[in-house]
Amino acid sequence: MGFNMRALVVGLISLFATACTTMETPVAEPEWTLLIHGGAGVMRRAEMTPELDAEYRAGLNAALEAGSRVLASGGAAVDAVQAAVIVLEDNPNFNAGRGAVLTREGVAELDASIMDGRDRRAGAVAQVRTVKNPIRAARHVMDKSGRVMFAGPDVDEMAKAAGLEIVPPEYFITPRRQEALRRAMAGTFVPMDRFGTVGAVAMDRAGNLAAATSTGGMNAKPPGRVGDAPIIGAGTYADNASCAVSATGDGEYFIRVSVARMICARVAMQGMSAEEAANATLEEVKALGGTGGVIVLDRDGSIALSMNTEGMFRGHADANGAREVAIYADE
Ligand code: ASP
Repeated sequence: MGFNMRALVVGLISLFATACTTMETPVAEPEWTLLIHGGAGVMRRAEMTPELDAEYRAGLNAALEAGSRVLASGGAAVDAVQAAVIVLEDNPNFNAGRGAVLTREGVAELDASIMDGRDRRAGAVAQVRTVKNPIRAARHVMDKSGRVMFAGPDVDEMAKAAGLEIVPPEYFITPRRQEALRRAMAGTFVPMDRFGTVGAVAMDRAGNLAAATSTGGMNAKPPGRVGDAPIIGAGTYADNASCAVSATGDGEYFIRVSVARMICARVAMQGMSAEEAANATLEEVKALGGTGGVIVLDRDGSIALSMNTEGMFRGHADANGAREVAIYADE
């Protein structure tokens, strides 16, 4: 009896000690988290000028700043990803909005999508030619249309009727992308010519997830070609029950692998971490011959910025003070 009593006392003491330890070292889950990307591919330091390197990093920081502002003030993840993507669409260095790559015929045809992990509502647009910020058109589709995806000139009409900012098609065209198109049409492949699809994923203070992606697609693409960026489940996915993903890379392969949904399925059904699910899914893309990268934020707040390429423009910010941008895979 005495022995049992001693065991009980020892047990209670150790239980108390464990509780104290747990209380003294709380898990520092950030109250909010934001990841962004600005495209993945073959990136070599030798091909990047110091000026361009600095411009890309400044652009990524400005997008992190815009999204973080929303999240820090208690805003929704879906508003934060939209805010971050708008900054990158407006930056001519990235392949989205102004500065997008051009079709074979020399025009910008823009694709974008957004998804809210709270209820899996989603909005997507393809082949946009006059909406200054295609991600706003995707958001309009999500919030107001009762549909998920629109393509072609009707998107421009719908956006105009909704009061979104409309610009002439030339607004999107930059000398750098015209030069890239000329090179592609002449059969010259320059890796840097194709970069810059943009995207963001976020978790807000309420624990909600969201994702957004915007792109001009592939340099010198045939008119009418649509990639993975506006395909819910391929380039973009968000569900509070699993994860949020935005992808960049060879769109055809990302569609065939259903990359974004597949990553979230692996998180939800196989219990993988964001990183494990991202890597397993990028392996599938690679096995088919595709390259690219993803940003992933899972329901537990764990993150992945993964690629099977030499680099990916990317950034990470959270409520605990993280604030980093990177370009090359080894950074
Ligand atoms: N995924 C985009 C597309 O195929 C391009 C890219 O991310 O570079 O349209």
